[in-house]
Amino acid sequence: MTAVDQAVAPAGYRNSLDRLPPLLAKRPGPEGRAPSIAPGDESQDRDSPGRRFICVFCGATIASPRDLIEVDGAGIHDFANPDGVVFRICCFSRADGCFPSGASTEAYTWFPGFSWRCAHCRGCGAQMGWHYESRSSGFYGLILKNLAEGGA
Ligand SMILES: [Zn+2]
Repeated sequence: MTAVDQAVAPAGYRNSLDRLPPLLAKRPGPEGRAPSIAPGDESQDRDSPGRRFICVFCGATIASPRDLIEVDGAGIHDFANPDGVVFRICCFSRADGCFPSGASTEAYTWFPGFSWRCAHCRGCGAQMGWHYESRSSGFYGLILKNLAEGGA
């Protein structure tokens, strides 16, 4: 598990690798984290019809702001992969515009107890992030720089 430990960014590690999409930047939380995200959040922006995250490559709808969730206490995480590449990801309970592919693995997982598979855009096939799953739950961790804000 040593390799896994090394792959996880130190607690509290935050920097401005990627500009937050407007949907998130409008409601900054502590240390730039996404605000408390609970299903059923009635904030005005989130209820605006058509608000959504889209693929920056093809414009396909990827996920709804309504499905943002917090995992391990934060909605946005910065993680480094074993090659040292840092990704800023945002957690979603579902992402209908993505499909998981490949075999799931726990190797180098960023969320202990969860295995992962790559998640790709249904529109263009680009990798948008990862799907994490445990015995009882699952969620998507999507790369923020691959998401843009779409909708009316
Ligand atoms: Zn796409």
